[in-house]
Amino acid sequence: MKNLAAALDELQEDHQWRSRNLLSSAQQIEPVINGRKVLSFCSNDYLGLACEPRIIERYVEAAKTFGVGSGASHLITGHHACHHALEEELADFLGCERTLLFSTGYMANLGLVGALAGRDTTVYQDRLSHASLIDAAVLARAHLKRYDHLAVDALHRHLRKNVGKDGLIATDGVFSMDGTVAPIEALQKLADSFSVPLVVDDAHGIGVLGEEGKGCTEGCRRDETILVGTLGKAFGVFGAFVAARADIIEWCVQRARSYIYTTALPPSVAEAARTALALIREEPGRRAKLLEQVAYFRQCAREADLPVTASRTPIQPIVLGDSKTALEASRALLEEGILVQAIREPTVPKHQARLRVTLCATHTRSHIDRLIDVLTRSCSRSGEDPS
Ligand SMILES: *Cc1c(COP(=O)(O)O)cnc(C)c1O
Repeated sequence: MKNLAAALDELQEDHQWRSRNLLSSAQQIEPVINGRKVLSFCSNDYLGLACEPRIIERYVEAAKTFGVGSGASHLITGHHACHHALEEELADFLGCERTLLFSTGYMANLGLVGALAGRDTTVYQDRLSHASLIDAAVLARAHLKRYDHLAVDALHRHLRKNVGKDGLIATDGVFSMDGTVAPIEALQKLADSFSVPLVVDDAHGIGVLGEEGKGCTEGCRRDETILVGTLGKAFGVFGAFVAARADIIEWCVQRARSYIYTTALPPSVAEAARTALALIREEPGRRAKLLEQVAYFRQCAREADLPVTASRTPIQPIVLGDSKTALEASRALLEEGILVQAIREPTVPKHQARLRVTLCATHTRSHIDRLIDVLTRSCSRSGEDPS
């Protein structure tokens, strides 16, 4: 084993040290973090559902009726009518044959890719795909081929070189650190012409993108495309699902190890997610409000000469360069009571350290005004020569 004390020192010297903020309130726009109320631009609770009273009420009611723990895995006695109903409602929402619940999005990717790929499979992934998709390919012992971010032509070249061999394309729908959106139609076309399955992990798109909140594949998803979604982000709850053709789902039931060898979600969590799904379907105003805040932030940031990217999603990176600069900017913001995460290596490529602003439907224009004001001062301050 490596010398951990030395390795930990090295992390600190390289500005790679990570520490946890201690949350002592509910996850909301102004949470109490490290004992202090701050204005947060760091949560994935895009629609403000994590504290929605109707969801909480259903959750508590279901816990009283069905207990706290599910007590078993799905294939033993843990598969509850609450899970089953949620799977059916998700399938109806997304217009696919079946869905399958997993405990987390991370586990959904491990289970799905592990069930579909093996030693002889090449898994093609965007260079910026989520850690869980990379780990999934590694765990499946597949060959991992990564192509440049959004570079469909590079993927095409790889596929042409491997015609007739077993393959699988896996991509984020919305890329979690950049807020960019995968070119779904082009990827589907390639998947079709080379007869390989396409997995779209739309953790940040489900509930957020599309007129109806079906995510980045809304309006263009073909039956063959396999969708992964989480219930922990826009749904404001916990858990995840795979949505696909019935035979693929059944194969996951039979073979996905992270589905089989783990305790099922508590039934009350499934009930909370059902309520969240109903609200996502019935209250499109939350989505509209969210996108309005994104547009407002981008407009203000541009006017303030902040280095915004092309992202149109609630993930709005401000790329600052090295880890130290990003970290200092984040600290300067916190001094003024604003929480924005600095994202560093290895989560993002070297020299692309950034502040990652995430917007929620529950932010107001005055919250955003405050952010822009402090950002403008902090970013120029962190760029100054310390001498
Ligand atoms: C957050 C995220 C996951 C993990 O989902 P969890 O339910 O939090 O485990 C998977 N993929 C992507 C792209 C994500 O952003």
